[in-house]
Amino acid sequence: TSAGGAEDPRGGSDPDAKLRPQRMAEMVGQQDVIERLRIAIDAAQVRGEPLGHILFDGPPGLGKTTFATVIPTEMNTTVQMANGAGLKAPRDLLPYLTNVSKGSVLFIDEIHRVPRAIEEYLYTAMEDFRIDIVLGEGVNARTLNLSLEPFTLIGATTRAGMLTAPLRDRFQIREHLGWYTRKELGEIVQRNSKKLNIEVDPDSAGVIADRSRSTPRLANNRLLWVRDYAQSKANGNVDAKICGDALDMIGIDGLGLDKQDRNYLDTLIRVFLGGPAGLDAIAHTMNVSSDTLEDEVEPFLLRSELLVRTRRGRLATPKAFEHMNREMPDRPL
Ligand code: ATP
Repeated sequence: TSAGGAEDPRGGSDPDAKLRPQRMAEMVGQQDVIERLRIAIDAAQVRGEPLGHILFDGPPGLGKTTFATVIPTEMNTTVQMANGAGLKAPRDLLPYLTNVSKGSVLFIDEIHRVPRAIEEYLYTAMEDFRIDIVLGEGVNARTLNLSLEPFTLIGATTRAGMLTAPLRDRFQIREHLGWYTRKELGEIVQRNSKKLNIEVDPDSAGVIADRSRSTPRLANNRLLWVRDYAQSKANGNVDAKICGDALDMIGIDGLGLDKQDRNYLDTLIRVFLGGPAGLDAIAHTMNVSSDTLEDEVEPFLLRSELLVRTRRGRLATPKAFEHMNREMPDRPL
């Protein structure tokens, strides 16, 4: 996520920022989430109170940061951006908290990475808009009592399960962002092609959508590559074939698998005859860490029904054999 607080939100040369919706009305999909947020925003405005704290969870690239930037715009207020991984000691929170103005938003991305010692300060900050912070150590230690302007904390996490219950319970609004449909991704591609000044017909947008793993960020990345490819190879003209060729060239196939995904399936099918095989054995053969496979490769293969996890190990499905153009061996399932 690359949204900077005070930067030009259109981001100049940063294409990610350029493609990011600026208003809630420009967002595609997540309609039920948007509807609930609109109600909460309206009600807060009617009451003249800050919006309740909001927690977004869901896989990367589905719009958590986008929501955290459009909500303050809808509320006519400002946002500060922080990252849980960057908050190491309680004093790292201070500049953010002392900068909040009435009704403004503090966004903490990757909030599951906030250390416990800091989390406790968030409790009173969120609940009573107050922090009591101990500065220094031993005889020099002194407590600083700060009262804060009422503000809205927006937290984002890819791992909701890693949040402690006391922190999770302090968010009045909790929203899970789910995968986007092919139609929604196609619409994002078409809208963004206009921002990029290229013409992309619905068929081409469909090819890009099919290969984007239900994820807007990937749809945008694929579109940017297709634009480069078309400008270099086809006078800037985009059609379905050009989209397919462009994405093939960077190793992204018709299901959206990349080279590493196919390498995984190839190893499982060729070396382990489709499995069941242990994760560590697959990782050793591929010479990558098993964490990488488990966190970055397997989720999409599982979701695509190319892989199943059994008690005896990983197993390639018939769909995986078909996709990899391999004969399925006779084996008891
Ligand atoms: P991470 O967890 O990695 O920080 P994220 O969930 O915060 O990811 P965003 O940065 O909000 O994801 O989204 C990535 C990009 O996808 C955005 O720059 C934006 O252009 C696009 N995008 C996300 N959601 C939508 C949407 N609902 N409509 C249109 N574009 C979207």
